[in-house]
Amino acid sequence: GIPLLEVENLKKTFSIATSLLRKPLTLTALEDINFTVRAGETLGIVGESGCGKSTLGRCILQLIEPDEGKVLWLGEDLTKLGSEKMRKRRQDLQIIFQDPLASLNPRMTVGEIIADPLRTLRPDISKTERRARVLRMMEAVGLLPEMINRYPHEFSGGQAQRIGIARALITEPKLIVCDEPVSALDVSIQAQILNLLSELKEEFGLTLVFISHDLSVVRHVSDRILVLYLGRIAELSPGHELYTDPKHPYSQALLLAAPIPDPKTARARTLEGLKGEVPSPINPPSGCRFRTRCPYAKEICADQVPPLEDIEGGRLVACHRWREIEAELTGG
Ligand code: SF4
Ligand code: MG
Repeated sequence: GIPLLEVENLKKTFSIATSLLRKPLTLTALEDINFTVRAGETLGIVGESGCGKSTLGRCILQLIEPDEGKVLWLGEDLTKLGSEKMRKRRQDLQIIFQDPLASLNPRMTVGEIIADPLRTLRPDISKTERRARVLRMMEAVGLLPEMINRYPHEFSGGQAQRIGIARALITEPKLIVCDEPVSALDVSIQAQILNLLSELKEEFGLTLVFISHDLSVVRHVSDRILVLYLGRIAELSPGHELYTDPKHPYSQALLLAAPIPDPKTARARTLEGLKGEVPSPINPPSGCRFRTRCPYAKEICADQVPPLEDIEGGRLVACHRWREIEAELTGG
């Protein structure tokens, strides 16, 4: 597919006030982020919590303003659009949140919640047409028409997420950022919601950016997967290759930690999994940010930031030593 979305050199920092007397600290949430999302694909974004996944999702939608870089939507830089033009564009780009109940206004009915983006973004559409669309979306996500006048607290987590999905679909978006859409749900419900998202993707011709800390969740839905570590891209690979032949030591460790039965990744087994925690983004390690947890780290890893290298088959890897590691693991 053609590139729908192109993210170029994206950077986002936050400043954190610690006390009135001290200078605020700077937290680098995202740095040097470059990737494209093709029309019709699902791009998974994975990494441990605190790696910048949600910030990236929100920067794509301009819910957070990046410090530097571009977010091109069909060639048009969204970071440069004024609020009025962005309001129009917002119909095309929607989001589904992690905690379905917390993301629904408890004082609004299901019908009002689902209609809300249409009411604010498309005031030209009549009330009658709006209601007809709400009912169509409710049907598409598997909610009964008689639920239209109920309130969110009357619903289970899974049903609440269906409401959130209907709300995201109502403006007929082209791209939806799904930010951990099943993480707050019971395992038994997760598969239902994932299947629903796949069906809706086909039915409405959607492009999805699917954020999750859980590799076993993104596996089933993603065409390509972007692995984020401490605000930088570690690897970007087609899903199948990432699961069968992860190149970056962080991808290997994540796979090992994921509850995937028989990942067929001998190389992943050579790592003992992830030790310790993600370091603070306030004072991240120099050079490769993964070096404090990487069993293969050498001097160069502390001295130089590894560039995101285009290896083969549309794969990108940011590791100084991926070739040597590969040779080591395959006994070459
Ligand atoms: Fe490990 Fe060095 Fe590669 Fe970073 S660059 S992942 S520290 S080997
Ligand atoms: Mg998050």
